[in-house]
Amino acid sequence: LERAQRDLSRKEHGSTNWEKQRRVVAERHAELKNKRRDFLHKLSNYYAREYDFVAVEDLDVKGLIELPGNSRNRAGAAWGTFLRMLEYKCEREGTYFIAVNPRGTTKECASCDASTEKPLWVREHSCPACGFEADRDANAAWNILSRGITKRLGAGRSESTPVETALPVDTSVSAKRVVETGSPTLKREPSGER
Ligand SMILES: [Zn+2]
Repeated sequence: LERAQRDLSRKEHGSTNWEKQRRVVAERHAELKNKRRDFLHKLSNYYAREYDFVAVEDLDVKGLIELPGNSRNRAGAAWGTFLRMLEYKCEREGTYFIAVNPRGTTKECASCDASTEKPLWVREHSCPACGFEADRDANAAWNILSRGITKRLGAGRSESTPVETALPVDTSVSAKRVVETGSPTLKREPSGER
């Protein structure tokens, strides 16, 4: 796309060659858009198929605040698209899908619930209250999962159900499952969903 745009800028505006190149630029734009969409489909498909329960941060996602204006809008649009795909695929696969309030999920300790201030550049979670250590995003992911489980259980069962028992806080294997990145998705075939 960049090359096509560069070439376009070198053509005489309005000329036949310029018009031709303008179409090339439009095609590249469309390709890029399709690739992004395809990726989101594969990723959401992966989560919906591999897991029985998926908890996500609700739309006004906290992570987006960390990005500058323009990329925040773009990332926000992509996140919204992703969530919609994920939700209907979860429904199709019989997977629980829960969106939770993301407020404070980064500051909260996934092990003991103590809340501590954490500037953006601190990538590790290290709890001053209980000593629990984890990657910043992994800790936040557990909190999101925990809230999702609470929300789900709260819908039908007593409030006193200990959420902790369902949390794989001390096993790194489970931890990895929880914070699984999308990479394995790329090795999978899309299941025909478009
Ligand atoms: Zn703690």
